[in-house]
Amino acid sequence: MSADCTTNSPTDPFVHWCETCGREEVLSTQDAFDAGWDFPPRMGTFGVISPRTCPSCPMTSTVWWAISVEKLSMDDLTPHQLKVLGRILEEVPPSAGGVQ
Ligand SMILES: [Zn+2]
Repeated sequence: MSADCTTNSPTDPFVHWCETCGREEVLSTQDAFDAGWDFPPRMGTFGVISPRTCPSCPMTSTVWWAISVEKLSMDDLTPHQLKVLGRILEEVPPSAGGVQ
């Protein structure tokens, strides 16, 4: 991962959202990590399914868990889970410069 784009530092605050309770907070990556968020780029990758949870919500309530651990298919997901899935897949890194 090389970052030639210097307009945004990786530590610039951006919106972290919890797929389970809907909480949203503008945090730097470090602050979010310290607070207990599971969120890219520390945990997972933008645009790839992985847990996106606030410090209060368990990983077991995520779409990632449903798909990766419970092995649910798309047909088994709830409307909410499908919405979360779409949001994750449409994500772009806050410092979009290295997207292929
Ligand atoms: Zn939450």
